[in-house]
Amino acid sequence: MKEDIILSVKHLVTSFDSEAGKIYAVDDVSFDVKKGKTLGIVGESGCGKSVTALSVMRLLPKPAGAIEKGRVLLDGLDLVQLKAEQLYHIRGSRISMIFQEPMTALNPVHKIGKQIGEVFRLHYSHMTRRMILDESIAFLRKVGIPDPEQRIREYPHQISGGMRQRVMIAMALAGKPDVLIADEPTTALDVTIQAQILDLIKSLQRETGMAVIFITHDLGVIAEVCDDVVVMYAGKVAEVAPVAELFYNPKHPYTRGLLSSIPRLEYPGKTKLNVITGMVPSLYEIPEGCRFQNRCPKAMAVCRTRPPGTTWVDKDHVVSCYLYQ
Ligand code: SF4
Repeated sequence: MKEDIILSVKHLVTSFDSEAGKIYAVDDVSFDVKKGKTLGIVGESGCGKSVTALSVMRLLPKPAGAIEKGRVLLDGLDLVQLKAEQLYHIRGSRISMIFQEPMTALNPVHKIGKQIGEVFRLHYSHMTRRMILDESIAFLRKVGIPDPEQRIREYPHQISGGMRQRVMIAMALAGKPDVLIADEPTTALDVTIQAQILDLIKSLQRETGMAVIFITHDLGVIAEVCDDVVVMYAGKVAEVAPVAELFYNPKHPYTRGLLSSIPRLEYPGKTKLNVITGMVPSLYEIPEGCRFQNRCPKAMAVCRTRPPGTTWVDKDHVVSCYLYQ
């Protein structure tokens, strides 16, 4: 593993059992996350972004979900091979996750102080009750929660959605993780709160040096916070590139379609935005060959025969498409 890589996902395959048989939500996905940097994972709903994150965290819903193949190397340690009790100590202290909807992670029947304190109790056995209380208040203050001495005595339903998201970020950071996974953490929030949360994550990252995996369907967010980007489509990686390279020199027809469907300042007024016609194929009916073939304006006969391999088109720029093979 290269020195500047903190997390390396290699050929990850994740399946779910369903009434119609086994479906592969993530199929042969590989990417690297650099120390202290932010990697964005972008794609439409159902492209496998969140399942990838849950696989990395080993938090797939049981018994339906399973990692079939692949490795998830955190500083060389393969999380796929760890036993449940080993994972218990890794999660929160070395790798943490914040979710789109904070109520999925916060327990509605426990006060906020108890929930954030639990993180310290689990990972720092030497801490006294007083130390835990002081640190909990300090972390809530750090994430911009006003009057944290009062908030720790409140229940999640007593504070706003933006505040709940901040509490979850405080809990995720309390264990001082090397890697933070943020799964659409601002989608449910209004735009001003979104901007505050993004700024908060960036400033905490500068302070702690953690790496961040940022999962979103929003290319604007990707442009704002990410260093590198993975574009996913129907469970596969379509393209990986540094963020500027992806925006100015996109290769995969899907990436090009996504980029031409967002408004840009340089567009003259009334410019019609592009639409990617068609739908993402159902995971129950994955076509032979390239998964984007039914929507691709460049599709060729070979695209319908077998999936394309990956091609390095530049240093750090990988694309999975027959146009480059
Ligand atoms: Fe389009 Fe073929 Fe490339 Fe798939 S492999 S994106 S169908 S050109």
